[in-house]
Amino acid sequence: MTYSASAFSRLISPLSDSELNKLATNAKHLTKQHFGNTIQLYIPLYLSNECCNSCLYCGFNRHQNIKRQTLSLDEATKQLQIIKDKGFDNILLLTGEHKASVGVDYLVPIIKQAQKMFSYVALEIFPCSTEEYSSLISAGASGLTIYQETYNKEVYSNMHPSGPKKDFSFRFDSPERALKAGMRKVGLGFLLGLTDWREEAYFLAEHLDYLMKNYWKADFTVSFPRIHKAPDGLDTKTISDKDFVQMILAFRIAFPKVGIILSTRENAELRDNLLGLGVTQISAESKTNPGGYSDNTSDEQFQVNDARSLSEIITALEKNGFDPVIKDWSTILSSISPVL
Ligand code: SF4
Repeated sequence: MTYSASAFSRLISPLSDSELNKLATNAKHLTKQHFGNTIQLYIPLYLSNECCNSCLYCGFNRHQNIKRQTLSLDEATKQLQIIKDKGFDNILLLTGEHKASVGVDYLVPIIKQAQKMFSYVALEIFPCSTEEYSSLISAGASGLTIYQETYNKEVYSNMHPSGPKKDFSFRFDSPERALKAGMRKVGLGFLLGLTDWREEAYFLAEHLDYLMKNYWKADFTVSFPRIHKAPDGLDTKTISDKDFVQMILAFRIAFPKVGIILSTRENAELRDNLLGLGVTQISAESKTNPGGYSDNTSDEQFQVNDARSLSEIITALEKNGFDPVIKDWSTILSSISPVL
């Protein structure tokens, strides 16, 4: 199916249970057709919880009285080794936004180190210029995740009262700047709970369609992190599991080749039930505080709801007929022309 805004609107409109079941059957078929039984596994490494932004929904925002920490190259290398020893080969490096202590110059040596140890290195960091993305790619980054948080400009402005993240457009254009710089894989998404999910899903689909048409050599993923426990005083719009599932089915049907990521914000039962219906990539053993893979005590960004180990997740996947994928990419492939 070729993407169309009107068809996508129908997919996310209120549906009966029997209509939802039909979507699930279709989504299951498309997932199997394009991804087989594979489920990719990755792990996040939080490098720093320093941040000069004040996002109301985030435990790292600058007004939170938490223990701040930025890992040195040595400390990051030790965390990378612990992760490698667990069996992972696909890593996501994360930071807050604090360019004075966690800028591109800080990241480049850590990416180079990670690239020596892992087949695939992706970033979830502050928005950068095209030149900065080029430096990060040259160091070894192959993927970038950058969520818009919300596509509603008024809500965005309320949620980001101060700091560089106030600039909606600079963030919105970040995926395109990364793609212009040559990023191989880009992840988009929004934070579920800030405003109406249908509105957010519609604009994410439009954003994704634009980038896919203009940067057709790149791979794309989407993800929908859900706020389960909001910071004090934040009024969140909860989304039911049924709506959450419908949104995943809608993206699978409208974008059959796009990867869909589910993080450990969701519990083990829901994660297991969504495999095969659209989800193609999950995180495992996540710690959301810098240094969290040793006995570090710095504060977390959010609570993890699936605490299973990598081997427990692999066992559960295999028991349900899936093929866990630890390594999905080798940098040697970067030199092969996509025009065959
Ligand atoms: S969401 Fe990111 S930018 Fe916002 S306060 Fe948290 S770490 Fe900083």
